[in-house]
Amino acid sequence: SKPVIALVGRPNVGKSTLFNRLTRSRDAIVADYPGLTRDRQYGTGRVGSIPYIVVDTGGLSGEIEGVDPLMAGQVRVALEEADAILFLVDGRQGLIPADEVIANYIRLFDKPVQVLVNKAEGYDHALANSEFFQLGLGDPIAISSAHGDNVAYAVDKVLSEL
Ligand code: GDP
Ligand code: MG
Repeated sequence: SKPVIALVGRPNVGKSTLFNRLTRSRDAIVADYPGLTRDRQYGTGRVGSIPYIVVDTGGLSGEIEGVDPLMAGQVRVALEEADAILFLVDGRQGLIPADEVIANYIRLFDKPVQVLVNKAEGYDHALANSEFFQLGLGDPIAISSAHGDNVAYAVDKVLSEL
């Protein structure tokens, strides 16, 4: 069966924008305010060289108790059923403590993880990536979900390593 790739990260980092690009749909709701995608959303991956399923999630705030309890349930299910995890962070905002909290949560699942530094269009990718090495989840890849930069490359890299 097709591998399942889950998109996780704080609200507003661009998960739904990436989902729409990967599935070439307009189904995910993209918004300027956080927390809109409350439930998991599934689509067929159409970017990259092999078929896969992609799962959009509402995101983890990484606040207060570590993981927003409202979001943790559906994100946990998505992580449990995933073969690989794409962990999105915001390259314009930079690394914030909530990202570290989420990284620690993701680590518990012991699955292949690729950190994607989103919103990196027009940025020096090496520079955008550098601070996110601190997450301890390997080499980040700078992407732009909105413009498509590096998206197919990142997906193919993850799929080729499964
Ligand atoms: P989600 O909450 O993680 O699903 O984030 P959304 O996909 O809803 O996007 C949140 C905001 O970030 C929206 O205003 C998007 O247009 C914007 N956004 C998403 N991807 C990019 C990107 O690659 N570059 C820029 N500049 N903005 C982006
Ligand atoms: Mg969303």
